[in-house]
This record gives sequence, structure tokens and C-alpha cells, in this order.
Amino acid sequence: MSDKKIPYKIYLEENEMPKQWYNVRADMKNKPAPLLNPGTLEPMTLDELSQVFCRELAKQELDDTTAYIDIPEEILKFYRMYRPAPLVRAYCLEEKLQTPAKIYYKFEGNNTSGSHKLNSAIAQAYYAKQQGLKGVTTETGAGQWGTALSMACAYFDLDCQVYMVKVSYEQKPFRREVMRTYGASVTPSPSETTEVGRKILAEHPGTTGSLGCAISEAVEVAGKSEGYRYVLGSVLNQVLLHQSIIGLETKAALDKYGITPDIIIGCAGGGSNLGGLISPFMGEKLRGEKDYQIIAVEPASCPSLTRGKYAYDFCDTGKVCPLAKMYTLGSGFMPSPNHAGGLRYHGMSSTLSQLYDDGLMEARSVEQTSVFEAAEQFARIEGILPAPESSHAIRVAIDEALKCKETGEEKTIVFGLTGTGYFDMVAYEKYNNGEMSDYIPTDADLEPGFASLPKVGK
Ligand SMILES: *Cc1c(COP(=O)(O)O)cnc(C)c1O
Repeated sequence: MSDKKIPYKIYLEENEMPKQWYNVRADMKNKPAPLLNPGTLEPMTLDELSQVFCRELAKQELDDTTAYIDIPEEILKFYRMYRPAPLVRAYCLEEKLQTPAKIYYKFEGNNTSGSHKLNSAIAQAYYAKQQGLKGVTTETGAGQWGTALSMACAYFDLDCQVYMVKVSYEQKPFRREVMRTYGASVTPSPSETTEVGRKILAEHPGTTGSLGCAISEAVEVAGKSEGYRYVLGSVLNQVLLHQSIIGLETKAALDKYGITPDIIIGCAGGGSNLGGLISPFMGEKLRGEKDYQIIAVEPASCPSLTRGKYAYDFCDTGKVCPLAKMYTLGSGFMPSPNHAGGLRYHGMSSTLSQLYDDGLMEARSVEQTSVFEAAEQFARIEGILPAPESSHAIRVAIDEALKCKETGEEKTIVFGLTGTGYFDMVAYEKYNNGEMSDYIPTDADLEPGFASLPKVGK
């Protein structure tokens, strides 16, 4: 332990920012299972994958061996507009909790999109531009990913077509308008503009949409439009690769002060921020150099790691995407309508799923009222109004710090604060009004989702 006084915020200098992404798959003995072609059930080849994603991104998706990949200068230039992100020592929170634990958080909310998603959006837009494409299509739920992508596309002058889950399009107009301000066209999904949308509307008139359905529409449009590709903001290996910037910066900041974490905590939806935060630490663990306790936190109402099955599954409702092997609740799973905290994807990154299955990290599920309690406490003590998603990690960080208070252990805890919650005030309103409830699905509730899993003998 160094005796340097640790500041409230550790900012790296711009020239200390990582210039390469780290690909944790290179150090994994058991590689994540490959994506399968939904027609043939054979692993997707580079050529097949290049019809869905840009070629360079398809290469990154399939690359299980290159440990470090250069970040192109134009992406570094954009990163410098909002990075390096601070690593904050939560002195105020430690004092309030009266814990001997030392708590740090990596704050990714310092950009207009309000989350870490911009780290991958800018990379994906860059490679699309490099390939000479006209534009990209994507889906968005509450709008964080769509917002990040529209910023990235505006920067590289690419067309950006976003299919936004209809209920969010109607009830969350602010992120929609941010996207339009950055030049994206936003279509409520399901829509009449695609075959899959028309089919879903005919079968379920009046449906308010889902993420899986918006993915199917975005993939269809990309497939039919010359010069377009589909992009996705989480789950994929390439996205975890881009998000490794979070962990690399965190590690560089800690190393500067000779700090070694004991516990690393992140919320997990599709797994991109957690995968990025832990990557260099997991690398050390995989190489046998160091050991860390790594905890993924998920909602009790959408518990893919803690209660899901490790199996090949569809990534979307329309079943047009490649199959991925992951911890999943089944593509037919829908979180209950009272679920307000995000992280509602049915599956989990294949990389994280494999690491979890190998016992290299653990997972915990938390109920949403306790998540919002932690969010409120954090906002009042540390000043930042956290995104509900991020607050899952805050909940477990506080729980671990309180355990240290009981045992007297001075553990060092690092967690990912992925974003701000300014656009999530409807959820906060519910909490403030005492109208928020918890819902934990029963085993019977999970059955229909598991029954929707494809029969793949792998
Ligand atoms: C999208 C999002 C998440 C969850 O996505 P992951 O891919 O699991 O990281 C978490 N926090 C915020 C603020 C988000 O916008």
C-alpha cells in the first residue's frame, strides 16, 4: 500500500489513457461458445457474420486469441471529449456507513448519453464509416443505447435508424428527442415499416412492443437496405472488447496509487459494462497472477445468471439473429410490468456466461425497492443521481461495506457507476410515492421462457 494521499477523484492524464482494448477471451482457457447460424446450427463464419455486422466488427466478434487490439486514433480523439472517466473514492459514503471498507466507483455518466454505452457506440460507428456504409440500424428500449449511437453517428455523419420499443417511445419522449436532435430517425416498434412488425401487429393488435421485437425489425431493415448494417449495444464479444476501456482506466488509476481491490462489483443486463470493468482484473485472475472476488448484480425480477439455464438461445423475438450460448431465461421471457429498474434482457453475454459457469465470478440478484433505497441513499450522500441500472451495483457495494463494518475488515471495493438517472424519474416517482413493489417470479413463472429455448444439441 502506498502512503500517497488518495484524492476524492483520481483522473488520469489524457496521455495515460489506454491506447489498446483488452480482449479477455485471449486469456480464457474455456472460450465462450461460438454464435450459431440459426438455419444450419453451424458456427457463424466471418463471411456470414459480415452480412449482419461491419467486417471489422465481425472479425473482433470472432477473435478469441488477440489479447490487445489498437484503438484507432479517431476513436481515441472522440474518447478524449469525455474520457478519461474519474475513479471516485466514496469518502462521504464510507463515513456515513461508518465502515472500515474503502469504496471506489468508476463513473461513466459524464457524457450527454448518460452512460457507458457511448464507448462502444463510437467504435461501431467508426468501423461502419471506415467500410463506407451509409448508415446503421438498431433497437433501443428506454433509449440509452439509441442516444449513444445517435451521438456517434452524428460525429461520423452516418444515418442512424432506431427502432424504439413503443411504450418507451410514447412514455419517455425526452430520450427520443435527444436522439432526434442528434439526427437519428426514431420509429416506434412494432411498426408497419417491416414485415416482422406487420406480422406482430396483426397477431397482437395494440401491443406496446418489446426489445426482442425491436431487434427483429432493426435487423430486417439493415438486411434489406443497401449500405446498412445492424449494430447492438450490449451482449456481444465486440461490445465487451470496446468497454474494456472502463476496466483498463480503472486499473491504471488504482495502480498509480498502489491500490489492489478485493471485490469488484457491476450491474449486469447484457453484461457489457461488467465485462468491460472486470476485463483486466479477470485477465490477471485467468493468468493466475492475482485473485479478486467479482460480483455480477442482476434484478430479482429478471434473474438470468442466478436462475437461468446455460443453453443456446435466440437473441431476439423474431428469431432472425444468430443463436448464442448464454445464461438465459428464454427469449419468450418477459419481466413483470412492475419492473422499473432496467436490465431486462433475457440473456447474458456469452463471455460472462462462460466465466460464471467456470466459477470465476459470482452473481447476486436484488429486489428493486432495495435498489432504489440504495439509489436514494447514494444520491443524498455522494451527490450523483444514479441510473436505476447502476444502483443494483450500489446496493451490493453498500451491503459488502456493511459486512466489513461487522467484521472489521478493511476491504477495498470497486464498483461500476454506469450512468445517471435523470431520464428515469418516472421510476423514482413510483419509489417516492411508495408505489413500487417487488416481484420475484416463481419457478412456474419461468417455465414458459425455458420452454421457448431452441433444441440445440450443444
Ligand atoms: C444499458 C445500461 C446498463 C446495462 O447494460 P450492460 O450491457 O449490462 O452494461 C447498465 N447501466 C446503464 C446506465 C445502462 O444504460
